[in-house]
This record gives sequence, structure tokens and C-alpha cells, in this order.
Amino acid sequence: MPWKSRWTTEIPVCSLSTYLFQSPDGPLPDKPVLLDAAKPEYHLTHHTYREWSKRLAAGLLANGFQPGDRLLLYSANSIFFPVIIQGTLMAGGIFTGANPNYVARELAYQLQDSGASILITGESSLPTALEAASSISFPKDKISIMGSGHEVFESRCHPTNNIQHWTTLLASPEAGKTHRWEDLNTLEQTHRTAVLNYSSGTTGLPKGVEISHRNYVSNCAQTAFTARLSPTYDSYLSRAVGLGFLPMYHAYGQTRHGVSNVLLGIPTYIMQKFEFGRMLEYVEKYRVTALNLVPPVAVALTKREEVGRFDLSSVEQAMVGAAPLDPATVKDFERVFGWRVVLKQGWGMTEITCSACGWDPRNGTEASQVGELNANIEAMIVDDAGLEVGEGERGELLVRGPNVMKGYWRRPEATRETVTEDGWLRTGDVAVKHPEGTLSIVDRKKELIKVKGNQVAPAELEGVLLEHPGVVDAAVIVMLTIAVILRRGEELPRAYVVISESQPGKPEEIASWMSQRVAPHKRLAGGIVVVDEVPKNPSGKILRKILRERAKAEVGDG
Ligand code: AMP
Repeated sequence: MPWKSRWTTEIPVCSLSTYLFQSPDGPLPDKPVLLDAAKPEYHLTHHTYREWSKRLAAGLLANGFQPGDRLLLYSANSIFFPVIIQGTLMAGGIFTGANPNYVARELAYQLQDSGASILITGESSLPTALEAASSISFPKDKISIMGSGHEVFESRCHPTNNIQHWTTLLASPEAGKTHRWEDLNTLEQTHRTAVLNYSSGTTGLPKGVEISHRNYVSNCAQTAFTARLSPTYDSYLSRAVGLGFLPMYHAYGQTRHGVSNVLLGIPTYIMQKFEFGRMLEYVEKYRVTALNLVPPVAVALTKREEVGRFDLSSVEQAMVGAAPLDPATVKDFERVFGWRVVLKQGWGMTEITCSACGWDPRNGTEASQVGELNANIEAMIVDDAGLEVGEGERGELLVRGPNVMKGYWRRPEATRETVTEDGWLRTGDVAVKHPEGTLSIVDRKKELIKVKGNQVAPAELEGVLLEHPGVVDAAVIVMLTIAVILRRGEELPRAYVVISESQPGKPEEIASWMSQRVAPHKRLAGGIVVVDEVPKNPSGKILRKILRERAKAEVGDG
């Protein structure tokens, strides 16, 4: 039988902007909530966050942006990143964010796939953005640049290479003041798409995951509900400080930094991008109380020597998610931080807005588990034939709830393959349910590879490899690193290629050719192996399991 979360919480029927700001003109706190970690005097309060967003919404509409249009932001984090999201939504539009490390090919794909009519690019990524735009004839006058955010406060919003600064999209403060966003006050209206966060799902190329206002509001309400179960939560909130280094183009950073923390009034110091040393420095400097981590950062906190040189005693909470975590790290974490900080593992995916599992703060945690279902979520675990397995047995995890995506943008077939008619999302993750109602994620059935929390889609890399003149066939699989030098269980993409007889390519040369064509986290760091044939079933599907076994035998499985 499917089982339900122990909890239910009421989910407000409204737009994400109304959830976040209540109304277009009501009073809001003037305490800084989004602060630039490098220059904290540059900050936004809950109130100014709304006012900048309204100015953007009014400006977009005045510039011909229509409800339902897409805006793509290709930039590192900044305190204005969430403003761009909210401004787009307040104009009735759909936001999509691209990894700032993308090369032109990858950005062009997302621009085209989302059908964005406006592109805002980070200043340093401008040449790549221009290359991407010209490859698909995206109009240059629809591109704007955004710097670190400092320039807004320093009135230095000049054009670069004749490309306008994003602030030119802003309406005047007066026009912004009178802007009203649509409230979405029926359930049906709240199913309007808010963001397209890209994910390859269980198979194939990256796809736009359509997250509705309802999905977004639900997931924020669900996680807030779990946090509030702590009897000391209110006193904790009075001293809570966050650090925002998770990228905001991804669901994890986007929901935590831009919405959840703001609603709770938690000041969050936004880092442009992740840098380990700077993270330690800021934790000490700003007395950060809560860390949202991905496994490699949690591991680094337990391993790297410089950690000991910083005062990290302010940290009270640490959450880790986005990829599998070696349970040994939880123990090591305790050694470094002492008993007062327990590293809690959660589980989530882009297709469920962000997260579906967490820990009841009143109970203990278990290192190898990801907690129990958040409020209003149901789950079941099934075998390959779709039949439910018993407690303690492995099977694919299926979940259902108000935070499950609407579907994949313009891909009805992929949606049907992933979400059943009655709303169950096939996660592609293999899980086990424990008697206490908690879950362990024990394997992954889908093709997806996670490198330092980032998605890598094998099908995409295979497509790029096949463009190489010396490659006639290719398969990319996940290779798990072994202990010793690298931490056990880190994932690396590894390719098996059949090379052309007439123009044979060498693995090193193919690897460096690939490096020019993909973002750094997608490089074939697990190696390239030349084979006579890629194993496939009669219908041409790559038999990845055979290759994963082969990789284990070649590299050792630790
Ligand atoms: P993303 O959509 O980028 O957030 O990636 C979601 C995928 O990351 C999940 O489907 C899992 O395969 C993996 N993942 C996330 N959290 C965990 C976890 N705690 N343990 C194992 N895998 C995880």
C-alpha cells in the first residue's frame, strides 16, 4: 500500500509572489534578508526585494513582455537573482535559470528549448552569451547584462559592448509602486507555470521542469512545516543566519535563498559562487548558524586542514542533499563540529520542486537515511514490474503530492513516461522504507549522473561525442570512485566509444575536444575507453548496466 506522510499542512491558494510578499503594497519588514557576502552594506530587505521586483515586472510589461513569456537568466548568484525571478513572475512570465558555467552550445540549447524572449547574462559570461545567441539568431537587443549587483548601488550600470544593463528593464520607482501582480486565487489558476528548472529526469536530454506556483508554494510550506515542529524554533530564528552559495539556477539554492529564508526573516549572505575558503571565512565573520550543503562540501568540511583555522562555533544546523552521501561523513562531521551539529540528510529532485523528505527535529537522525516524507506527500516503492515491494525491500520510489511538477515543458511524451495518469512521479531512485517510516536511497535506476550536486545527462554527452569525426558510437555511464585518494561514491562520467577506422580518434584527444564543448562538471573525468561495440538491446537501447559492471571491474568497486 502506498503510505502517506504523518503530517498535513494547509497550503495557501495564491501566487508565489503573494506567498512571499503577501500583497503588492502592504507593510513588510525592513530588516536586511539578502546581503551581498562580499559587501554586506549592499543588501535587500523583504520590502526592497518586493519593490525592485515590481519595478522589473512593470518594466518588462512596458517593453513588450507578455504573460507566459520566458526570461532566461544566465548568471552566478547575486542578491538581485531572486529579484529577476520575482519580477518575471509578477509580470505573469516564466523564469528559467541556466548554469553560469555553461558553454555557448549548452546555453543555446536552453534558450531555444525554453523559447525565452529575454536573456539576462552575467557580465563575465557575455562573450559566451553572445556566441550562443548568434548561433540561434537570438536578437541582440533582447540581451541584457547583470554584474555582481554592486553596480546597482554604485550607479555604474553602463552598457558593455553595446549590450544594455539589466537595470534598463526597470520601470521608474513610481511606476513600480503602482504595479499589481495577478493574485491567482483559485486552485486552477495556481497551476500556472512559474519556473522551468532544467533536469534530464530518468532518461534523455535536459528538459524544462514545469514548476507551477502551486508546486513552489507547496514545497516551501511543506519544509517550513517540518522546521516548525522544533519546540525551540522561534528562539532559533531570532539568531539564525544563512549563507547562500548554492547556485540559484538550481531548485535547492533557488527555493532556500530566494524564498524560504526570506519568509522566515533569516538574513542570508549571498556568495556569487562557491569557494571553500571564502565559505569558511564568511561562516566565521557573519556567525552563520545554518549550512545547506551538497555531499562534496560536507566531505571537504571533515577533511580539509584549513577548517581548523576558522571559528565555526556559530553553526547549529547542517543539511545535506542533492546526491548520495557516504554515511561515514556524518560521523566525521560530528568529530569536527561536535555533538551540537548533526549533519542531516534530505532527499529531493527538481521534478518535486526541491525536496520531499526531511527529519522531524524532535527526533534523532540516522546517517544512511534521508528522513521521512514531508507533509502532504504520499509514496510507494515498486519493483521492475510495477508491483509494490515489502518494507525493507529495494525498489523504485514513486511519490505524489502538490509539489510534483506539472510536467516537462513541451514534452508530453516524456511527461507521460515520468508521471502516471493518477499523479505518481517515477523518481528513478531506488529506495528502502524502514519500519519508522524513514527512507534510505540505495541506488539510482535512471541514467542521471550527479557531479558535485550538478546534473550530467549521459544522453547529452553521447550526442556531443558522436559529433567527433573519429567516434562512431558512444555510451556514457556513471563511474563511482573508490576510496583512497577520492572519497568513495563520488560520481564521474565515463565513456565507452567505438572509434572510426578511417579517422581514429585517441582518447586523450577526444577528451580535450569534449572539454571545449561542455561545462567543466560534464567533462569525462571517469575516462574514455575504446571498445569494439557498445552493448545494446535489439531495439538499440544502450545496456548501461553491463557497462557499469564493466567499469566496476576495470576500476575496482572499493
Ligand atoms: P536534482 O534534480 O538535480 O536535484 O537531482 C535529483 C537527484 O539527485 C535525485 O533523483 C537523486 O538521484 C539524487 N539525490 C538527491 N538527494 C539525494 C540523497 N540524499 N541521496 C541520494 N541521492 C540523492
